[in-house]
Amino acid sequence: MSSIRACGITDPGLARLHNEDAFRIDGGHGIYVVADGMGGHSHGEVASQIAVDTICSRLTGSPEEQHAGRDNEPLRPQSRRFKDAIECAHEAMLEAIREDLSLQGMGTTVAGILVRDGVVTVAHVGDSRVYRLRGTDLDLLTRDHTWVNEQVLAGFLSEDQARSHPLRNVVTRALGGEADVTVDVQEREVQVGDLYLICSDGLTAMLTDDEIRKLLVHEDSLEQTCKQLVSAANERGGIDNITVVLARIEDRPAS
Ligand code: CA
Repeated sequence: MSSIRACGITDPGLARLHNEDAFRIDGGHGIYVVADGMGGHSHGEVASQIAVDTICSRLTGSPEEQHAGRDNEPLRPQSRRFKDAIECAHEAMLEAIREDLSLQGMGTTVAGILVRDGVVTVAHVGDSRVYRLRGTDLDLLTRDHTWVNEQVLAGFLSEDQARSHPLRNVVTRALGGEADVTVDVQEREVQVGDLYLICSDGLTAMLTDDEIRKLLVHEDSLEQTCKQLVSAANERGGIDNITVVLARIEDRPAS
C-alpha cells in the first residue's frame, strides 16, 4: 500500500492582471489536476474553474452517473472514468457558453493524474503538462497539443525554435473549443518514490526541462519545491500565470 504526499501553488506571474489557472488536489480520491483557462475579460478563470469543478465532481460522484463512453479503448475503468470526467467538463463549458453568449471564446487546457488501484492514469488536453521524476530521470509524459509542437514532431521546427516561436501559444486542442474534444489518456504503474509534476505552460515557457529536473531532484519539502519552481519562472520574467502541483508516491500505508 502506498500513499501520496502532494502540494500545489498557483501564481499570477509578473505580467498578467488575472490568474486564469486553476488546480485541484483531492488526495482522498487520488485526483491531481491543473487547468489553464483562456478567453477575454476574466472568462479564462471561469473556464478553468468549470473544468476542475466538473472533473472532481464526476470523479467523486457515484460511478453509475457516468455518461456513455464514446469509444472502446482498452482502458481500465478508472481511466475511462477520468476521460469521461474531462469530456463532461468540455460539455459543461459548451453548456455555460450556450447559456451566456458573452462567454463565447472561453476555453481551457487540462492536465492531471488519477491514482487508483495501483495505476496512475495520465490525461490531458492542450499544453499543460505532466512530468514524472523517477530517480534522477525526468520524463515528459504528455505531448503538447500546440501548433508549434506539431511542427517539431513533423521535423519542421527544432525544440529551440519552438520555444521562441511567435505562435508558441496556439493550442490545437482545448476544452470549450470545437464541438468534440479528444482526451489523451495513458496508464502507468504506481511506483514508490516517483514524483509527478503537473503544471501550466507559465512554468515550462520559462524553464527548460533540465532546469525543472534539477529543482525536483533536490526536493526535500514539496512546499518549498513548489515555491522554488514558481520563483524560478518569475525570475525569468513570469510572463504568464504559473501553476505547479507535485505528487510524491510514498512507501507507507495510506491514512
Ligand atoms: Ca498559460
